[in-house]
Amino acid sequence: MKRGTSRDIRTANRYEVLRQIIAASPTSRQELAAATGLSLATVATLVGELLDLRMITEVGFEDSAGGRPRGLVAVNASGGALIGVDIAETYVHVELFDLALNVLARAEEDVRPGESLPEQLVGHVAAAVGSVVMQAGIEGARVLGVGVSVPGQVNRDTGIAEYAPNWDWHDVPLLDLLTEHIAYPLYLDNPLRAVAVAELWFGAARGRGDAVVVTLGTGVGAGLVLGGGLHRGVSNSAGEWGHNTIVLDGRLCHCGNHGCVETYVGAPGIMLNLRELSPGSPLLHPEDQTATIAALAQGMREQDPVALKVVRDTARYLGAGIADLVNLFNPEVVVLSSWVAAALGEPLVAEVREAVSRHALPRPMAATEIVLSLIPSDPACLGAATFALEGALQSVGQRNAKRTTPARSRTAPPS
Ligand SMILES: [Zn+2]
Repeated sequence: MKRGTSRDIRTANRYEVLRQIIAASPTSRQELAAATGLSLATVATLVGELLDLRMITEVGFEDSAGGRPRGLVAVNASGGALIGVDIAETYVHVELFDLALNVLARAEEDVRPGESLPEQLVGHVAAAVGSVVMQAGIEGARVLGVGVSVPGQVNRDTGIAEYAPNWDWHDVPLLDLLTEHIAYPLYLDNPLRAVAVAELWFGAARGRGDAVVVTLGTGVGAGLVLGGGLHRGVSNSAGEWGHNTIVLDGRLCHCGNHGCVETYVGAPGIMLNLRELSPGSPLLHPEDQTATIAALAQGMREQDPVALKVVRDTARYLGAGIADLVNLFNPEVVVLSSWVAAALGEPLVAEVREAVSRHALPRPMAATEIVLSLIPSDPACLGAATFALEGALQSVGQRNAKRTTPARSRTAPPS
């Protein structure tokens, strides 16, 4: 595994300062030092670099009682564009953001049942990326990068989608395939990381040290924020909670094991819960996960007894599985995210809260809030865009490091 070099630390600090400025513009160097724990001298250096890159601007002064007025900086929203791509089993969402991470354009492609070849997914991504750049009317040169979230295990360094059980992908060179169609710098990671960062920056995990973001879609998983930062694990595989065993000798999973959490609470698992309860139910749309989940949501609103029972059964599995996460990580907040959670909404969350409290230990349970994601757009796109931002800052660091003389002589090692 890579060791942190001083340049890695420097890039991480620059990213952290920019993140704070995006979260709270305008802000002063003093506030940034307090928020990041870096020295004022280090913050001043990093702010200088970000000003040189035109990612932030000076926006005047704030009065400080008695003392010298403090210079304020803010993110330069038009200083560049970022693209976030969310590849899922049933859709491809693409959003284009300014540097303040406001959405400027979005595009959506439906992925039809049976479409699972890498080339088919890449085609959807290329079309949607082209569409958002055209809609936003920006020059391609202003796109700093494209962050791509793809389900399963991902090697960020090689750009290889190592394992995606729902598509039976093994070692797909996804970044190389995308590079044939997309000219911008590309950064690959998975939705568990993306949604965790989105919640950490802009959602329910903001300002919180320990949080678990549970994604409920076709696949399920848990994005982990521990000690204020994203937890990846030693090979970027942390959070594969969907493949924890919840029923011994239970349903067969795409991963080859039996009784995985995902097979009971992922969209196909919920369809199976419905089929086992009421095989002829009009709520069931065979081969169409999206329509079935939408029908269940509508059924719940109408107090349909089958819909209510299916959601309650699903919440029982979720309750046991999430109680494991609560006992293991003692988080301040558990956020339910992704399209199935959004569709089933607050009624599902209420059932889940009750079920978790039956299984989790009282002390960690008392310290944990269980909430629905409040991020209005697609959190995986937002998080993926932050990976592009991180990558853009990294490549700047590498370019600067290649020069024989440093661009700025006032650079100091981070304290
Ligand atoms: Zn599994």
